[in-house]
Amino acid sequence: MRNQGLGSWPARRARKTPRRTALVHDDRRLTYAGLHERVTRLAHALRGLGVRRGDRVAYLGPNHPSFLETLFAAGALGAVFVPLNVRLAGPEISFQLADSGTSVLVYAPSHAGLVDGLGETPSVRERIALAGERPGAHGYEDLLARAAADPIDEPVSPDENCMIMYTSGTTGRPKGAVLTHGNITWNAVNVLVDHDLIADEVALVSAPLFHTAGLNMLTLPVLLKGGCCVLVTAFDPDATFDLIERHRITFMFGVPTMFQQVARSPRWADADLSSVRLLTCGGSPVPPSLIETYAARGLTFLQGYGMTEASPGALFLDAEHATAKAGSAGVPHFFSDVRVVGPDMADVAPGQTGEVVVSGPHVMSGYWGLPEETARAFTDGWFHTGDAARIDEDGYAYIVDRIKDMIISGGENIYPAEVEKAILADPDVLDCAVIGVPDPTWGEVGRAVVVPRPGSGLTAERVLDALTGRLAKYKIPKSVVFADELPRNAAGKILKSVVRGTYG
Ligand code: ATP
Ligand code: MG
Repeated sequence: MRNQGLGSWPARRARKTPRRTALVHDDRRLTYAGLHERVTRLAHALRGLGVRRGDRVAYLGPNHPSFLETLFAAGALGAVFVPLNVRLAGPEISFQLADSGTSVLVYAPSHAGLVDGLGETPSVRERIALAGERPGAHGYEDLLARAAADPIDEPVSPDENCMIMYTSGTTGRPKGAVLTHGNITWNAVNVLVDHDLIADEVALVSAPLFHTAGLNMLTLPVLLKGGCCVLVTAFDPDATFDLIERHRITFMFGVPTMFQQVARSPRWADADLSSVRLLTCGGSPVPPSLIETYAARGLTFLQGYGMTEASPGALFLDAEHATAKAGSAGVPHFFSDVRVVGPDMADVAPGQTGEVVVSGPHVMSGYWGLPEETARAFTDGWFHTGDAARIDEDGYAYIVDRIKDMIISGGENIYPAEVEKAILADPDVLDCAVIGVPDPTWGEVGRAVVVPRPGSGLTAERVLDALTGRLAKYKIPKSVVFADELPRNAAGKILKSVVRGTYG
């Protein structure tokens, strides 16, 4: 095979393990041979619609086998896959379609109304509807049925672009990270090595595939190894237990809010979780209380730190060190290098706070169409994450917070994440965000926006009193505001800029 990219994975798997199950969705099972055939047909169909090397093919819809089929089929032609976030509004989708210059859009029935209502998207020449024929769109299954099934072997090198994946947009407008086939492959190798994945892995894919975590930390590594992925259309904490029991799930990956919801389900106490071997949490800091809750059930959290731009794995805390290094995001993945540096790019001393920079074969080539942002993001091949961290004497990293969210009060740096963690220690606090507000004396002071447990009678005094003695005085917020909920994006991350706009 001369295609050395992702587009060749189904063919390579079909050569080795044709009869093993690759994907499960509802009651449908797809073997690797079946996946290979459908991907080949779709690639022929896309080629028939004019898709050529380098063209962009976008996908809009919840988790479904066709997401992966489209990714692999685009890769088989050397075309570039653009996963779109299902929670985006029409104008945001239009922006990403235009920004990426997408020529073919594949979309799910859930998004037919949104796609019909999209304004001008001049680059989009062809639409493919999963639901079947719709006005102005081809039917996905019809295209497959009519397409040829003879092998496609388009030469694709690992250095060619594989996907444009937009960042979560937590700090501003999402940027398109351009990831090559090599980037994605090296990341998958890192996951295989550091998680000890086996061919009998059965992964529960409840995390959205359009985000880097669900796709690159869970699904693709499992498919590379020949395991099975159970795709879940809509995450439902109660249904999660049925899926674990029915499919004997071995590997789960999610953001902390997802695991929190699972632990609050009435099924938590009695469900059979004995099949679960790997439980990885990433994307946001993991609250210690969550680690304890799962430990009480005999489950150890592995932790990951990364970002869309790094495909995404940078740091990983394995099971062996999960307890001894609790609170740490671990050490770099096998083929990754991570440093914590000062403004001069020199490593800071152990215990000092600096910026996390990442380098390795899994780090993107740049942001799509943003040469200046790309230039600013790299120094001598090191990618600036914008995150603050410390490293201990053993080389274990502790993520402190995003540098952009730092509050400077009377010349002292306050990282809101530390204050939020202290406030969240009160079981009557369901959620919390700390922001900086202008202050005539100190320049800026902290304000805590707190979601209280309903009926708990939580007061501002109680929130603040609990911090005395636990945090330095300058870190203790000067005011508390109560809210019903905090704005979060599709990745479950608090949108600090929105919190600042509303409560600042
Ligand atoms: P945008 O770049 O558009 O503002 P984003 O940074 O949230 O959005 P992602 O690439 O999805 O987009 O997220 C990466 C970021 O998530 C990291 O830079 C870091 O701030 C945060 N993060 C990821 N893993 C962890 C972790 N284990 N602990 C703390 N923070 C984490
Ligand atoms: Mg980011």
